[in-house]
Amino acid sequence: MPAKKFTLIELLIVISIIAILAGMLLPALKKAREQGYSILCKSNLKQVGTAFLNYSTDFNENTMYRNAPYVEFWSGDYADRPWYELLGLLGKYSQLDYGVKIGTLRNKGNYYGRNILCPAQKSMDYSYSDYMANQWFLGTISTSDAYKNHSFKMMQAPTQIVLVTDNGKEDTHSVTYASNIRSNHVGNTANFLFGDMHVSHMSREKIGLDATILIQGF
Ligand SMILES: [Zn+2]
Repeated sequence: MPAKKFTLIELLIVISIIAILAGMLLPALKKAREQGYSILCKSNLKQVGTAFLNYSTDFNENTMYRNAPYVEFWSGDYADRPWYELLGLLGKYSQLDYGVKIGTLRNKGNYYGRNILCPAQKSMDYSYSDYMANQWFLGTISTSDAYKNHSFKMMQAPTQIVLVTDNGKEDTHSVTYASNIRSNHVGNTANFLFGDMHVSHMSREKIGLDATILIQGF
């Protein structure tokens, strides 16, 4: 008995059904991938939180500075280092190493070793680091001592204090205004590390409407 062959019409119908099913599935896959990005980003922030706690244990319960005081090991000179350089060993630049590496966006392709970046970060235009410290709380140390950093002991509402956020678009590694936080994650959200070390996301609307998110809780 000769095998029955498909006609061209039957073949085209099958192909078009597959195409329709794929079309229905692809947006769901895209959303799943974006949710995966956000989970990975939250995991990055959790690591940063652990490093912050370790730092505070080493430095009398102080938080990391936005610009941390530092002594250059080759010259002994005083210097400032952005907080993210103290999280993990960045070549010759850091004596502290809390096991976390944050990529510097300006030098993509030229940054040091295995760095973590937010997988949703799309632009290299504005920020030295994708993750940004809350300058109001961390403070900075400089020759003028313009900002004072805070101690974990001083937290009044640790669940509300933003330590670090992702998707930065200030031309620095810290953030001073909520409007400078992008919301590249699924559902127009950005991720935040809080003073009690919990990590969660906030929507663009919530970030935009709540102008005090960077200055509350301390
Ligand atoms: Zn992110």
